[in-house]
Amino acid sequence: MTLQVLLASASYFVAATLFLLGLQRMASPRTARSGIRWAGWGMLIATGATFLLPDLHNLGLIVTALVLGTVLAWVSGKKVAITDMPQMVALYNGMGGGSAAAIGAVELLKYSGLVAGASAVAGLHATDAGVPVVTLVLAVLGSAIGAVSLSGSVIAWAKLDGRLDRRVVFPGQQVFNLLVALAMVVLGVLAGTTLSTQWIIAFFVVALALGILMTLPIGGADMPVVISLYNAFTGLAVAFEGYVLGNEALIIAGMMVGAAGMLLTKLMAKAMNRPIHTVLFGSFGASGQAQAIEGSLKPIEAGDVAAMMAYAERVVIVPGYGMAVAQAQHKIWELTQKLVERGVKVKFAIHPVAGRMPGHMNVLLAEAGVPYDLIADMDDINPEFANTDVSLVIGANDVVNPVAKTDPASPIYGMPILDVVDSKNTIVIKRGKGTGFAGIENALFFADNTRMLYGDGAEMASALVSELKALDGGGH
Ligand code: NDP
Repeated sequence: MTLQVLLASASYFVAATLFLLGLQRMASPRTARSGIRWAGWGMLIATGATFLLPDLHNLGLIVTALVLGTVLAWVSGKKVAITDMPQMVALYNGMGGGSAAAIGAVELLKYSGLVAGASAVAGLHATDAGVPVVTLVLAVLGSAIGAVSLSGSVIAWAKLDGRLDRRVVFPGQQVFNLLVALAMVVLGVLAGTTLSTQWIIAFFVVALALGILMTLPIGGADMPVVISLYNAFTGLAVAFEGYVLGNEALIIAGMMVGAAGMLLTKLMAKAMNRPIHTVLFGSFGASGQAQAIEGSLKPIEAGDVAAMMAYAERVVIVPGYGMAVAQAQHKIWELTQKLVERGVKVKFAIHPVAGRMPGHMNVLLAEAGVPYDLIADMDDINPEFANTDVSLVIGANDVVNPVAKTDPASPIYGMPILDVVDSKNTIVIKRGKGTGFAGIENALFFADNTRMLYGDGAEMASALVSELKALDGGGH
């Protein structure tokens, strides 16, 4: 082993250690930022180490790709609004899967060239040309998973970005998708055994089509599960192709992303009460006509809400995607402090898929300085709603919609929700009659003890703070 190769291997080891420690630091909001930085350094070291490898061809192309990628990622990372982060994650995820698939394609075509080069021997296979079976199998598997993850993530991005309908369904979809999946397996076997260019191309086309078809029907509450599943897919694909290339850093990073993604998928699926196979094969979701919702939307003014909260014993604040859009977390924290000063017991209730990415609300509340002991998970807070005087829902919709429990025809039926509907009084801050991510009416908003405080989240939170100050000034 030359010194250069030894140095590259040592750098990969350092990089992998940094990935591992970075991931560990991401487990808590307190250390998450530094975790990202550590993993970033790891990535820089791993990329740099690649230049130490012998027989590196196409240096010009590699450097051009690196410069382009860095500039694009830097600019888009700086520009992206936090509410658009999930789309960006979906895209980056897809690119990881796409890169793994591209490696697979190049390697398969390379083996195909080896075979073609020796084609004088009739029926020569890749294994005859010296490619181990396990390498071939992993190249094909990694390509399949990577290609599905690429096209599936692009569809997820389009849905999250509002460019595609949340849920595209057609009759016989499950059977059709199953047939496409079978076709991909058959073509994968053909591509791997014959290494003929036509089969390789057909295999990739069908794998990409499968990713699109699998993701089209997924909507409503299942989106978070599918996003983390593609994340796990990408990791696996990268690890498999890392084996094919004999690159330790890719294997370790890929296995870590794959394992973390799988765990996250399992946790999300459990939290959402959605077995993974039902998410993927679309047997969940609306069937038949949704039940009509009784009641009316009853508006209220900020002054009345402030008075209700000021004289309440227990208040629970339920943030959702709209709080992120309005960036209202700082004002909400100010409001909380005002209430706590008056002796009101305030807690925050966090649903596992509130917002648009796992942990979205925790990140925003941590950014505003809300202490962790005020933040409660769904299972802990749900029994407390019945003793809550006022629940203040700010920009949350699907995660507090009681039809998830009452209407089997609803696309969110079966998803666990925050039982805000049990509170003595509910106030909902939202701008108008906009639906949530699942695109359905919310029975909570029409309940007898719910009042609607219409307006932008940040403006309404500000108005509540001012009204509370006015109450204080009034000598309460
Ligand atoms: P929802 O998306 O269900 O609802 C958000 C609500 O916020 C809307 O009804 C909207 O009503 C209101 N809103 C929007 N902008 C503002 C604003 N500036 N001020 C005040 N209100 C505003 O949010 P939830 O958090 O309840 O639910 C999350 C949904 O997203 C779930 O269905 C989940 O499955 C899905 N999802 C979650 C992911 C995750 O990982 N967490 C990933 C992908 C999807 P109006 O327009 O009237 O103001």
